[in-house]
Amino acid sequence: MPELPEVETTLRGIAPYVLGQQIEKIHIHRTKLRWEISPELGELYNVRILGLQRRAKYLIMQTEQGYIIGHLGMSGSLRVVDADDSAQSAVRDKHDHVEFIFRNGKILRYNDPRRFGAWLWTETLDGFPLFAKLGPEPLSEQFNADYFWQKSRNKQTPIKSFLMNNAVVVGVGNIYANETLFLCGIHPLTPTKHLSEAQCLQLVERIKQVLQAAIRQGGTSLKDFIQPDGRPGYFAQQLYVYGKGGEPCPTCGTKIESAVIGQRNSFFCPQCQPPV
Ligand SMILES: [Zn+2]
Repeated sequence: MPELPEVETTLRGIAPYVLGQQIEKIHIHRTKLRWEISPELGELYNVRILGLQRRAKYLIMQTEQGYIIGHLGMSGSLRVVDADDSAQSAVRDKHDHVEFIFRNGKILRYNDPRRFGAWLWTETLDGFPLFAKLGPEPLSEQFNADYFWQKSRNKQTPIKSFLMNNAVVVGVGNIYANETLFLCGIHPLTPTKHLSEAQCLQLVERIKQVLQAAIRQGGTSLKDFIQPDGRPGYFAQQLYVYGKGGEPCPTCGTKIESAVIGQRNSFFCPQCQPPV
């Protein structure tokens, strides 16, 4: 599933081809993905992309008339092809559900085999319901040790579920929550209110480092957004514990344990991350 670093990489990958460019029209080949695709998108003609940004895992394209909001869901990806490329690999396939046709001869295609993604339209971001309850961006200054410490007081919730709560901080998905807790030596079931001030600081710093490292790593796959052969794969990452139940801990050799916490698979070393 695309996580925040993949969304950020996607944004940076498509930016050189679409920023400042004019969308001639948008072809919608399937009207419903996770939700119905906003019908307004099919009626947009000749709008320019004035800005590209990310909020949580949403891609936001600003135009003169409003905002196109995209979400990659479970399996969505974007790629750029040349409209006049006749190679078989540049032909639209059955999972290419939305196409942004640009005046500069490029097509931005949205592919989504599992169809959990979304494409929506809003004239203003003020009060946009999907963004209303989101916490701060993890890489922003608003997400700092002081904020996290205050927010964590009196919370009985396991720290792993707390980290993954979008109202606390956005974009810390299951992989990154597991990895960060391992790097901080904190057991995932630790009640959030038991964290010390020093642990809050450590967690905040580690989250930023882990996400930034993943974004840097993703940068190496940027070429895939323009190459018509091959889809941009979600980049393989170097992981310490995620998905490694039963394998030796990279630090101490103890068997990594797994458990389901808040309905999500969790991995931890019982030695390096002792239960509280
Ligand atoms: Zn260990």
